[in-house]
Amino acid sequence: MALKVVMLGPPASGKGTQAVRLAKARGIPKISTGDILREAAQSGSELGLRAKALMDRGELLGDAEMIGIVKERLARPDAADGYILDGFPRTVRQAEELDRMLEREPLVIVDLAVPDGELLARMQTRRVCGSCSTIAEPGSSKESCERCGGTLTTRADDSDELVRQHRLEVYARESRPLLDYYRGRPTFFSVNGAQAPDQVAKELATKIDQMVTVAPRKRT
Ligand code: AMP
Repeated sequence: MALKVVMLGPPASGKGTQAVRLAKARGIPKISTGDILREAAQSGSELGLRAKALMDRGELLGDAEMIGIVKERLARPDAADGYILDGFPRTVRQAEELDRMLEREPLVIVDLAVPDGELLARMQTRRVCGSCSTIAEPGSSKESCERCGGTLTTRADDSDELVRQHRLEVYARESRPLLDYYRGRPTFFSVNGAQAPDQVAKELATKIDQMVTVAPRKRT
């Protein structure tokens, strides 16, 4: 059975970090809508330029556009054996559409819970690779990406205090209702995302193994 996981949680809760680890461990792709949009922005396409303007202000892109992007991405052959979704769904409408795409296939929903103060501190200090989007180890003084050697930078939407605050407000308004949407499902669980990344990864892997009968292909 294909493992399909949705990572929920506010900005800087560790969705990207945990999604990468989980995807690597299970041999399935991590699909990050934020990464897709940042790549589009770098390419200078019409979508990319529009996305960049919204992302830099901490606003969400429209549901119809995001649903189209994700539908197309999930139809690619590498997603046939499962995937980890990072950053989608972000609204109840996106979640309803994802359910329609999956029909009756089971979906594991992970919520990473982190207090706002910690999120703001993480956003302020977070550095990401400008080439492959890998998030640098918190507190690391390295200037280049451990994965690809690219230059580490601060995301535009992390560098402005008002935008950081606004993203938390947008999360609370648009995305927190997803918890109520999914909470009743037996495949929903919440993890304390304020713990060290290794501990979060361990709890996540254990819970997922309890929920699905797929054997992990590879362990990190
Ligand atoms: P992330 O890297 O997940 O923090 O996403 C960065 C930005 O991309 C967000 O602040 C939004 O502007 C945009 N974005 C990413 N995913 C979505 C989505 N599912 N719906 C709407 N906007 C999104």
